[in-house]
This record gives sequence, structure tokens and C-alpha cells, in this order.
Amino acid sequence: MTTTATPAKPVSPVLAPANPDEYNRTGIDLRRPMPRPKVKGITIDFHCHLFAARHGRDWFEAADHYGLDAFVTMTPLEEAVGIQRDHPDRIRFIVVPKWTEFTPDWIDDWLMRLEAFYNLGSRMVKFHASPGTLQMRQLPLESPKLKPIFREIIARKMAIMTHIGDPEVWYRGRYSDAAKYGTREQHYRMWEDSMREHPDTPWVGAHMGGNPEDLDRLQDMLDRYPKLMLDCSATRWMQREISAHRDAAREFFIRNQDRILFGTDQVSGNDRGFDFLASRFWVHRKLWETAYIGPSPIIDPDLPNDAQPIIRGLALPDEVLQKIYHDNPTAFLAKIGMGFNELNEREAANRSAH
Ligand SMILES: [Zn+2]
Repeated sequence: MTTTATPAKPVSPVLAPANPDEYNRTGIDLRRPMPRPKVKGITIDFHCHLFAARHGRDWFEAADHYGLDAFVTMTPLEEAVGIQRDHPDRIRFIVVPKWTEFTPDWIDDWLMRLEAFYNLGSRMVKFHASPGTLQMRQLPLESPKLKPIFREIIARKMAIMTHIGDPEVWYRGRYSDAAKYGTREQHYRMWEDSMREHPDTPWVGAHMGGNPEDLDRLQDMLDRYPKLMLDCSATRWMQREISAHRDAAREFFIRNQDRILFGTDQVSGNDRGFDFLASRFWVHRKLWETAYIGPSPIIDPDLPNDAQPIIRGLALPDEVLQKIYHDNPTAFLAKIGMGFNELNEREAANRSAH
């Protein structure tokens, strides 16, 4: 049969694979073996998004190749049980609300999810309060609508992770309408007010507290809020800004070596296979562990093509790497009654691809 009619849309579109020009523009061999991080015990990625059980195969193949053992992930509840079934030793969850639709019963639904995640072992709740999300959802941390969530967190002695702020280049660009999005100072006031209101709650400031561009601000906050930890996740953001302040960032990591958690912000997807996922792990390992100076395989869409960032690795001392990959996340999780069954070192080492 011939027809000129438009073909019907597939019910479940198969996404085209991600474009290598975006995640491997330098054409490196992402399957080349890389030794495990020089860490005793398991390595823990404290901030990532493994979205679906079906993404697990490529995810863990890449993780094994780059010596990453365990993941604290923000997974939709609908996928959590399947992932826990497949990878019980390697996955722990952070409570997240339903992200895709914003219904009138959204907060009640979040409370239900909180309890369900709690029963799956989670003891930490994420608040996404970036300028874009604040504008979209109109739920600042002090919103009365969020009070029931905070009450549950306190009653259950859980921890909080917040995403506050965003890259400075975004404040200058997409958020430059301060009447609509607010200012960075307003966003950090909101965050600090909430931390002061919950002084006993262990707290993780995602993405270097959302402001790797301003290490003085971060130092000031770490000094004033003893329960605050920072995760160093987000690949393009960190490769750009950590590299731009390489020496100061290295000093910062050494000085605050007990307050930083390794994280990637890896995000799985139907269109993201081994190489895409590997590119993120590759950049993080080069950035924190080595003195690599050179281009990144990953394109930075916030910069022009002819002004892409140069990675300047921090070559952190072994004892600092030991803390950010293992000791700090392990201690943080233990404090809130979470944790991974420690695998013995040989078992962890055997995971690395050769
Ligand atoms: Zn994230």
C-alpha cells in the first residue's frame, strides 16, 4: 500500500542516541582502562539520577569501568523498587517528589512518596529550589505549603539536600530579569533562613552549594553552618568553574576536606549509552584526581564553540580523595541511619574493567 499520509507517531518514541559531538568532541577512547580511584573501601557518588531500571546495564558498565561502586540517586519512586531489586548493594535513594506533573495534590503525593522512600531505606529529602524551579513552582523553602514536608523530615530525623542557585552565567543570562527570578542574594537568604530554622538537620548543598564561582561565600557558609556539606556534582558546571579557579579551588578542597562529598550529577536516559555516561565519569576523575590540563570531551553549551573550557585538574592529595569518595559520604550516611554494605576491597577492585 502506498500512502502520502504522515506516518503515525510511534506510541513510545525511540530517541536517537545522544550526539557524540556533544559528549565526545575530542574523540577520546572512553573504554580505555583507567585505574580505580586510590581509595580504601567503596567509592560513593553522592548525587546522581539513575532514572529507570532499564538504564542500569549501561550505567553500571560505565561505573565499573571508572571505579565507581555506589550511588545515592534521585530516582522516581515508580522505578525505585526495580533498581533496588537489581542492584541492592550499590544504590541508595534520596526522596524526590513527582517531577513530571504538578497536580493540586502534589504535596500530599510528595508526603506519600516520602514515606514510601523511607520504607525503602532513604533518610534524605531533596528540595529543588533553583531560580528556574522557584519561578515555575512558586514554592520557596519558607512556603507554608512545604511545612508538612519539613515536619516529616524533622520527625523522622532525616537529612536535607537542596539545590539553591545556579551557574553565575545563568544569572547573567536567562535569569537576568530579577523581578521574575529574584537575585542570588535573595536565594541564599532563603536557604540560610531555612538552615537556621533547622539547625540540627544534616544538610547537603548540591553542586558546591550552587555557587562554585564564589568560594568565599561557600567558606563563609561552611564556617557558619556546621551541619552543612557540599557535593561537587554537575559535570559541565564544575569543569568550567573549578578549572577557572583551579588553585583557589584546590586550596578550598584541602581546607574543607571533611565537608565535601564526591558527586557527578550523572543523569541516565534512553538515549544515553556507555560512552555518554562514561564521558561524565571521565571528566570528574580527571578534574579531581589528576593534573590534567586540556580540553574536555563534553561541550559546554553556555560558552561559544571557540571558547570552550580547558579542564585544569586539581590533583587532590590522596587523603583528600579518600575523604570525598569514601569517608565523608560514609560518615554522613551513618549519621542518618543509611549506608552501604562495605564490599571488601578486592571485590570492589574486581569490578574495574580491564
Ligand atoms: Zn542533580
